[in-house]
Amino acid sequence: MLPVIAIVGRPNVGKSTLFNRLTKSRDALVANYEGLTRDRKYGEATYDDHRFLLIDTGGITGEEVGIDEEMAKQSLAAVEEADVVFFLVDARAGLTGTDEVLARHLRTSNKKTYLLVNKVDGVDVDIALADFYGLGLERVCPITASQGRGLRSLMEEVLAGLPEAKINDDEEDAKRGVKIGIIGRPNVGKSTLVNRMLGEDRVIVFDMPGTTRDSIYIDYERDGKDYTIIDTAGVRRRKNVKETVEKFSIVKTLQAIDDANVVIVIMDAHEGIVDQDLHIMGYALNSGRALVIGINKWDGMDADARDHIRSELDRKLNFIDYAEIHFISALHGTGVGHLYESVEKAYTSATKRLVTNELTQILEGAVFDHQPPMINGRRIKLRYAHAGGHNPPLIVVHGNQTGKIPASYKRYLEKVFRRELGLVGTPIRMEFKSSE
Ligand code: GDP
Ligand code: GDP
Repeated sequence: MLPVIAIVGRPNVGKSTLFNRLTKSRDALVANYEGLTRDRKYGEATYDDHRFLLIDTGGITGEEVGIDEEMAKQSLAAVEEADVVFFLVDARAGLTGTDEVLARHLRTSNKKTYLLVNKVDGVDVDIALADFYGLGLERVCPITASQGRGLRSLMEEVLAGLPEAKINDDEEDAKRGVKIGIIGRPNVGKSTLVNRMLGEDRVIVFDMPGTTRDSIYIDYERDGKDYTIIDTAGVRRRKNVKETVEKFSIVKTLQAIDDANVVIVIMDAHEGIVDQDLHIMGYALNSGRALVIGINKWDGMDADARDHIRSELDRKLNFIDYAEIHFISALHGTGVGHLYESVEKAYTSATKRLVTNELTQILEGAVFDHQPPMINGRRIKLRYAHAGGHNPPLIVVHGNQTGKIPASYKRYLEKVFRRELGLVGTPIRMEFKSSE
């Protein structure tokens, strides 16, 4: 599973600069979906072939109240789940009270913590460091996040101490069947759904060392096909266990998304679509994974309540145009079969091999129906397209002046590709290359 590094520190010490430097890779787990992810950032990073999850916890001042206090708490919770913590301080600003508060917290958390003294460019390094030794952290490294100084030796040491995360491997995947990640906030019905998906007779009593951090992987067969469920809730039988609400774990959710071929996001129709659902949707969307949405607890809802949810979906999830939505009852098993159909479609779409000839033909057809605009009196030309990868499918379009293609025209092309290729349940990524 993907190891986790969390970056903490007060505002302005250089956390996002460091985050951006380390996640500078095309498959960063997180792009920006406005209004979905707020201050914290999550990214999948690759350094010397090591993959890890990087969390920018957002600025913590130690003086937060209200909503901010809640977010600061969540940020520190991310620290609890991390393997390694990068605690950033600012060499130019010197030691502050907030640094001391954070250091105290980190010392008691017993995490492997690196104190990164940032912005040592243009200052006397020895003097700058001396200031911070008093924080009582063992590993102290001077760096410049903006130029990357000091990062190589730091990352080599850090990564050598972390477990190796496997690069997703198609052949291995094929053997294991479709990996389905089941995610959602606490109490929406994830465990109930997992039990349903496995089928009554297949429910195993799991005697796992119930760490809150790890998801449970369940291999099984259904109608002659292999599947693996990545269960973030941890199958538990409510009848036997006290009705405690599971604590939500961002890290576990992100790891499950990362490792899944298809993600099922579950929401609770009785409660409507709340902010936390949207955050979770944001992580799933940004990952580029194939996606299916399950609106659970559809039983016992009257017509008005159902209409209300439908309009909420239209309003709040209208930016997701590719995921199929199912109204289900995990408790009664209604709709679970259809969920599998969508999972299959999404998986097939996400892993479909795209052929250059076909892509170019589709492109030509799209351009024939609706020409790209003129820029300064010259028409944008799109010549051919080829596949750049799958899961999610990447379509690379070549032409000239491609940097000037309006967003609306890109959306049009994506729509045409989606329709003509019959892609369902997966995002499509498009890249444009200019030959001049
Ligand atoms: P955050 O609030 O902790 O995420 O901090 P930012 O990454 O936004 O950085 C705050 C400011 O510090 C920005 O103006 C950065 O350009 C600057 N900064 C970041 N790293 C360095 C560095 O290594 N040296 C110098 N001189 N400035 C830096
Ligand atoms: P988790 O925390 O997401 O794993 O949620 P659980 O599966 O433990 O379910 C939380 C509560 O919702 C339990 O009391 C379930 O019995 C109930 N529940 C789950 N699915 C449904 C459903 O489809 N309909 C109704 N009415 N209740 C459900």
